[in-house]
Amino acid sequence: MDGSVDGTALATQVCPKEQQMVTHRFERKTFDREALETVLRRRFFIAPAFEIYGGVAGLYDYGPPGCAMKSHLIQFWREHFVIEEGMLEIDGPTLTPDPVLRTSGHVDRFQDYMVRDVKTGACYRADHLLRDSLESRIEALERHPSADPEGTQRAAMETCLQQIEEMSVEDLTSAYERFDIRTPETNEPLTAPYPFNLMFQTQIGPTGAIPAYLRPETAQGIFVNFRRLLDYNNGRMPFACAQIGLSFRNEISPRAGILRVREFAQAEIEHFVHPERKQHPKFERVKDMELILLPRAQQIQAASREDMRPVRMRADEAVRQRIIDNETLAYFIARTQIFAQMIGILADHMRFRQHLASEMAHYAQDCWDLEVETSYGWVECVGLADRACYDLKAHTAASNIELVAYDKFDEPQDETFLQITPIKRAIGTRFKGDAPKLLAALEQLEEADKTRIQHLLGEHGECQLGDFTITKEMVTFEQVRRKIHGCNYYPSVIEPSFGIGRLLYCVLEHAFYSRSGGDEARTVLALRPAMAPVKCVILPLSKNEVFEPVLRAVQDALAAHRLVVRVDDSNASIGKRYARADEVGTPFGITVDFDSLADQTVTLRERDTMEQLRGPIQLVVRGIVDIISGCRSWAELGASDSGLKSFIGQQNTALVEDRRIVESTS
Ligand code: AMP
Repeated sequence: MDGSVDGTALATQVCPKEQQMVTHRFERKTFDREALETVLRRRFFIAPAFEIYGGVAGLYDYGPPGCAMKSHLIQFWREHFVIEEGMLEIDGPTLTPDPVLRTSGHVDRFQDYMVRDVKTGACYRADHLLRDSLESRIEALERHPSADPEGTQRAAMETCLQQIEEMSVEDLTSAYERFDIRTPETNEPLTAPYPFNLMFQTQIGPTGAIPAYLRPETAQGIFVNFRRLLDYNNGRMPFACAQIGLSFRNEISPRAGILRVREFAQAEIEHFVHPERKQHPKFERVKDMELILLPRAQQIQAASREDMRPVRMRADEAVRQRIIDNETLAYFIARTQIFAQMIGILADHMRFRQHLASEMAHYAQDCWDLEVETSYGWVECVGLADRACYDLKAHTAASNIELVAYDKFDEPQDETFLQITPIKRAIGTRFKGDAPKLLAALEQLEEADKTRIQHLLGEHGECQLGDFTITKEMVTFEQVRRKIHGCNYYPSVIEPSFGIGRLLYCVLEHAFYSRSGGDEARTVLALRPAMAPVKCVILPLSKNEVFEPVLRAVQDALAAHRLVVRVDDSNASIGKRYARADEVGTPFGITVDFDSLADQTVTLRERDTMEQLRGPIQLVVRGIVDIISGCRSWAELGASDSGLKSFIGQQNTALVEDRRIVESTS
């Protein structure tokens, strides 16, 4: 879908042409989520997994159309990021041994706070329950303003709502006490909030001796392979590695359909870069792009969450003003914005929200989330973080394998360093068989440790190095000058992390609308053609076998372009069959009628405009292929030189006539 190497060209190339076909606008307040959910279940896009056994919260099946959309999304992602940026890609196991996730901090800190009903033991995520309870109390006060004539209760609750995301366990506990939060169903008291680790724990092997977890993110699999990846890249920096795969989180109370689930596909990129050189070689291509940003300062100034309006700002300006920390992060924000629009997320309903300082991990340099507006509110779909050197340093310390890159200087540089020389005879006499261990430890000393030891030996005549007590007779020190040609360093990591299911759901909400007309409202999924599960429905006027040869010719022509098509030869009227295809987002319909038998022409109908064109099979198929690949628009296809003729006005009479013939011959 994305053949261009130019980010800005892509933005303009992909959007306006296809935008012409979108005839509706998503409205959060009036969005009919129930209607969408009915379609998604009935047409088996997504359904609760293991439903015949009662299902399990947070686990979903993707049915045929959902599965097709998910695979398109992943394919575009791979093209847009991995291929376009020349990234490496790996595929590692989901089962991850304990030490890896202990080092990354997940064993100790990957947690949410939970409260339990003291009677029934029912569990709730503490921040979510607090938010829901306060919001419903505010709603109740709106209905009965006399209960809070001064508005003081409401003001206190609103202040608390604004702070929920940054609350520590102590803050949550005091908010629970202050507002006397109870279970929503039975108004029973709750335990105080306490931490709950979100990882699924297991053991590997029959003895159960190897503790492990299902990975909560794909990123760690990339960090632990850093050395191999750098080697594969011939030692060249910067470089990026991607991984697409399942992640698992034992969410306390999964909700909001596939937005918060316990097993989900993630697509993550780890871009490794020198910590002091975070320019991006392709930044030039996106520098003029207007990014949709909600910087930290805007959020702090806003009176309420609803009041937070994003600003549109050129990418280069955002970096120049240090609103976005560096070029590489800004480059990925720009590419993510293009990607989101490409798959069908509406620009007016997305924003990149910068994390407040209190939301970020202590080591993180800067973080932005792509948030998309849905009927559930703003949803984080992509997290973009500059994680500095934290992960590689932590895995180096824990594994004793140096996860560093080498920086070769343009010119060799002089370096003065402290040389420590062991006096082997003195060491051998004192430590005998253990002497080699001490010699190895001395050799590995960092510059700061050498200075410290020199100082201690000078002051006290002896000092401790691990298990060894060394004395000043065992080593000598000398300041030495040497030429160095480069040095090792820990790369910084810039990490864009995408939730595939969340993006997919947002695309569905933004594409869904109802079309009135006739006796019933008909729902449509205005999916971008390239995202649609089925590209074209083929409608013979009836099952009559006279249509068979043309039907086959149309199918063959579409199959030659690897397009997924469906034939709907049911008895329903053509209009009903179009409606069925609209409901699952099929962008094109081809009708085969009696004229088709005579002259090999067919009618092509477009989902959103409902316009129709007529022409020879090969030209119609070419047109479909061009629109899907984004190089022609529907309007261009209708232009006089396309070889296709507008069919508006004739269709009804022609089809009525055709149906009469079908009925009389069958
Ligand atoms: P995080 O590592 O928490 O920043 O998550 C990265 C991305 O994974 C998020 O932006 C979401 O799109 C997605 N994600 C995280 N948790 C879930 C979940 N429970 N269900 C679905 N998607 C999730």
